[in-house]
Amino acid sequence: MVLAVREVFAKSILNKSKVMDYCINPYVGCEHACVYCYARLFMPRYSKHKEKWGSFVDVKINAAEILKKQIKKAEKKPVWISGVTDPYQPLEAKYSLTRKCLEVLLHEQWPITIQTKSLLVLRDLELLKRFKQAEVGFTITTDRESIAKLFEPNAPAIKERVTALQKLHEEGIRTFAFIGPILPCDAEHLASMLFDKVDYVFLDRMNYKSTIEKFYKEHTLEYALKSEFFKEKKQSFLSAFHDAGIEAKALF
Ligand code: SF4
Repeated sequence: MVLAVREVFAKSILNKSKVMDYCINPYVGCEHACVYCYARLFMPRYSKHKEKWGSFVDVKINAAEILKKQIKKAEKKPVWISGVTDPYQPLEAKYSLTRKCLEVLLHEQWPITIQTKSLLVLRDLELLKRFKQAEVGFTITTDRESIAKLFEPNAPAIKERVTALQKLHEEGIRTFAFIGPILPCDAEHLASMLFDKVDYVFLDRMNYKSTIEKFYKEHTLEYALKSEFFKEKKQSFLSAFHDAGIEAKALF
């Protein structure tokens, strides 16, 4: 797939969020191109893109400069990086926008939560260790690489995400896994893969059934959209994490 990259100037980078007090999204669009992505439902229209989700990225090249100005006027509160894009998608290796924003936030010791699917976050490990409050979460939706490839075509392999979580955890960074939306998986196996690598876990179900039902049907996975599927997986995950002494919270 050809990637359309556009350098843009953002008016604002530190924005209000429903998940945490603020969010920072250094990019518009996401190369990982996940089929279930919540942002793909509105972002192309909102950002006036006609390309397919996953085939365009706007790079907010003034992100750090604008953040420097915004945090001077804002109350210091937790920041979620990011929400509608992956802050460590491949283009971050070239542009370092997330890193530059982290440097600005570190200077003022703002509390941060990073959520990603990419081991590129390890590039910034030394920076993260200098924060008083920093945590990194990985979205891991299944233990099966073939399922991950189907739903998250350009995202790093599950094995790599788990290895990155382990490294961060060993280095003393608070870590979490976001298992959402739960895809076809062996819940006990996935939980055991995460046991000594995360401080806590969130679970969520597929919340956009009507827009994704066709995709599930094409791959004969309809069973994994049913309420019984999510109920059963939730119980299995909660019980496995409970037994391992890891805090787990279901959002459904
Ligand atoms: S990594 Fe996140 S933001 Fe990027 S496409 Fe996947 S779900 Fe969307």
